[in-house]
Amino acid sequence: MTTRSVVVKVGTSSVTNASGGVDHDVLASIAADVVEAMNDGWEVVVVTSGAITAGWAEVGRGQPRPRDAVSLQAVSAVGQPLLMAAWREAFARAGVPVGQVLLAPLDFSHRGQYLHARSTLATLKTLGVVPIVNENDAVADAEIRFGDNDRIAALVANLVGASHLVLLTDTEGLLTADPRLDPQATLIDEVRAFDATLLSLAGSSSSGVGSGGMASKLAAAHMATWSGVTTVIAPARATTPLVASLRETPGFGTTFRPRPGKLSARKAWIAFAVASTGTLTINQGAMQALEHHGRSLLRVGVVSHAGHFVDGDAVDVLGPENQVVAKGLVRVSAEAFDDGDDVVIHRDDLVLLRHS
Ligand code: GLU
Repeated sequence: MTTRSVVVKVGTSSVTNASGGVDHDVLASIAADVVEAMNDGWEVVVVTSGAITAGWAEVGRGQPRPRDAVSLQAVSAVGQPLLMAAWREAFARAGVPVGQVLLAPLDFSHRGQYLHARSTLATLKTLGVVPIVNENDAVADAEIRFGDNDRIAALVANLVGASHLVLLTDTEGLLTADPRLDPQATLIDEVRAFDATLLSLAGSSSSGVGSGGMASKLAAAHMATWSGVTTVIAPARATTPLVASLRETPGFGTTFRPRPGKLSARKAWIAFAVASTGTLTINQGAMQALEHHGRSLLRVGVVSHAGHFVDGDAVDVLGPENQVVAKGLVRVSAEAFDDGDDVVIHRDDLVLLRHS
């Protein structure tokens, strides 16, 4: 049997109960589901949210949850061990050990740390350990925290070369409308391409405890499908939601098909993981050269630039009508823009974003 690999992410509203504590029953059933998938031949990495909510249930004395980043980061330090203890207990029922891997944005942008994270996850697998990943909320820079685990899960799927990403949440999947506003909303079974209509379906988080909502799930699915990863959004509290997603049970969840011509890990990283520090607006001719002739971006094609980027930074490339055309790593700083090399972004460092 060939080994297939999946990253399954469980959201805060699914791992915690109404009072904010860890919902041990949900964890037990998801752990059993993961073990069943492993018995089906899947390698599984779990990405879990819930540290902040569980932490506040422990130390918040029933007060409203704080909103400032500093308090939330401290509270995550309280909840993370509670969450891990609960996952450990849930998997122990099946005799499967777990390991905690906490990741911050820089771990994905420093090549050395990226490779360490990848070898740690690979080694855990050879030890028969299920990795349980969360964002390293307590120490990540408040300004550049990911803030949502959907994105982390998509990055981890890319990191481990997973074929599938399953986002378990508190909805049935992606619906044709916001069900709170439109009772006729129905489940979309399958998505083959990202377009404006699709992105407009994303409302904001309905539960109030998670940070993601449908918009961040769609962003994660976008990134994953562009990295060649099939993505499913499915209800966490269903019976064996992971196995049902992987078996493509009809009528269950929304499955996003990978885009043909997947991005390399490096280009996926440029497109989705690195934050842009500036923008370049280009003319029609340059847009043609990039999109139809696979060229590098030359300085003559840039009409204006904004932001404080330096050599090697990521920037967004906008067309004449301010449409997002591409993202890439610049070879020149904003300061020296007019005196730098003719090639502003080399084609190897450029990702076209319009042809989904
Ligand atoms: N890392 C956060 C936590 O564990 C959750 C982020 C999210 O809601 O996606 O509480």
